[in-house]
Amino acid sequence: MSNERLTIAVQKSGRLSKESMKLLEACGVKFNIHEARLMAHSTSHPVDLLRVRDDDIPGLVMDGVVDLGLIGENVLEEERLERVIKQQPSGFSSLRRLDFGFCRLSVAVPKEEKYEGLQSLAGKKIATTYPRLLESYLEKQGIKARTVMLTGSVEVAPRAGLADAICDLVSTGATLEANGLVEEEVIFRSQVQLIQREEALSTEKQELVNKLLARLDGVQLAKE
Ligand code: ATP
Ligand code: ZN
Repeated sequence: MSNERLTIAVQKSGRLSKESMKLLEACGVKFNIHEARLMAHSTSHPVDLLRVRDDDIPGLVMDGVVDLGLIGENVLEEERLERVIKQQPSGFSSLRRLDFGFCRLSVAVPKEEKYEGLQSLAGKKIATTYPRLLESYLEKQGIKARTVMLTGSVEVAPRAGLADAICDLVSTGATLEANGLVEEEVIFRSQVQLIQREEALSTEKQELVNKLLARLDGVQLAKE
């Protein structure tokens, strides 16, 4: 017998966690969360929550290991591009775009550097956690630059002499300012998406998903 509980992957702890849980609760799906645990079983529905790092969520859905996921489009698109290149499964369906987790991925340059449009980046080294998104953007714009992959402290890379510019997530711009960087190009705008694995769900599970989506739409509508 297959597992008939719907599995949903959410970020364990970080910027998306609170809103993700609020959203599920607003849909009437209740959980008792034990902070240390990876899994949480719903007390109201046949739903299991998998609490992981956000970076793991797109892959879990694309590999069909979980049924649904809540994830920022920046991480989702980076993983999709990476998997296309590696010829790994990259399919999923977008169920809804949600109104949280807003941020933008931008190229920023040290304030003492003259910036005269994208051509200024030609031949430069750009530090980023999102090399695929950056490369695909630069390629479309016809700019040849090198990307330097850093998973953290991207904003200090120019001062540390590791790169000439950075491409990082921005919401207010305070971090850039504090590091003497100026935001010059927005390359990607992101918010959270609810995604579903590509392979069909059982009838029961799909009916549950449809019911949850109807509630979600009701909640979103009530907020507008
Ligand atoms: P994890 O431990 O799960 O890997 P993380 O450190 O990668 O966490 P967070 O900082 O919690 O991730 O950010 C998660 C997501 O929140 C981002 O990928 C992005 O979609 C969104 N986000 C919204 N605003 C910002 C911001 N100002 N900076 C970074 N991410 C933001
Ligand atoms: Zn992460």
